[in-house]
Amino acid sequence: MLIDSHCHLDFSCFDHDRVEVLNSCKNLAIDNIVIPGTQASQWQKQIEMCQLYPQLRFALGLHPYFLDSFEPIHLVLLTNLLNKYHNKVLGLGEIGLDSHIDVDWKLQLYVFEQQLMIAKNLALPIILHHRNTHNELIRILKTNKFIQGGIVHAFSGSLQEAHTYIDLGFKIGVGGSITYSRANKTRKTIAKLPLSCLVLETDAPDMPLMGRQGKRNSPEFLPEVLDSLMALRKESKQEILQACLQNVSTGLVNL
Ligand SMILES: [Zn+2]
Repeated sequence: MLIDSHCHLDFSCFDHDRVEVLNSCKNLAIDNIVIPGTQASQWQKQIEMCQLYPQLRFALGLHPYFLDSFEPIHLVLLTNLLNKYHNKVLGLGEIGLDSHIDVDWKLQLYVFEQQLMIAKNLALPIILHHRNTHNELIRILKTNKFIQGGIVHAFSGSLQEAHTYIDLGFKIGVGGSITYSRANKTRKTIAKLPLSCLVLETDAPDMPLMGRQGKRNSPEFLPEVLDSLMALRKESKQEILQACLQNVSTGLVNL
């Protein structure tokens, strides 16, 4: 049994074949798929999809990529939905900071810190997005004394950065980047981390695996991420599978 801890199956590129993708996941023993939130206009669709397909689970949040449609009322709506679905929602996310996008930095900081406060007030873990922003994120998490943890999605970085997140209560998301031999630093880091912090993800439709560049990524490829992880680790397949499952349910809630 496998869980894809991060997959944007609500995106419209899956509208025409979502059922087929889900059937194929079922055949591959991918029993649960976590759909993180990205923007207010998608939240209802995520919730309805998860009601329709019980193997799908959701988190809600405002992703830095999509802040051009941000309005302050979205923070109120987010709080209301998190309260309403408190026994269903897995956490608050995907939230974070990204230095590679053309979105006002001050707005990114504001929306991230506001959501961090909401997560803190509701005692929810977060799903964290980063890109060249580990220092900023770690500083903000520490300043705000955020202790609910969550998952650092698509982790790439040094062993020291990973350990800082683990000390702050986070699990480390292992995705398609480890299928690339050139991702040496991240592969070395993942090889050395304790098994008790690793979770598997695809980040589909983004982050295509090696050999599939330019094509839509899919949760169906999660077993290939697992294969790459197994090649980096000493533990048996069974141990890795069991730990990854356990780690998602301790990193998030309601799973
Ligand atoms: Zn994502």
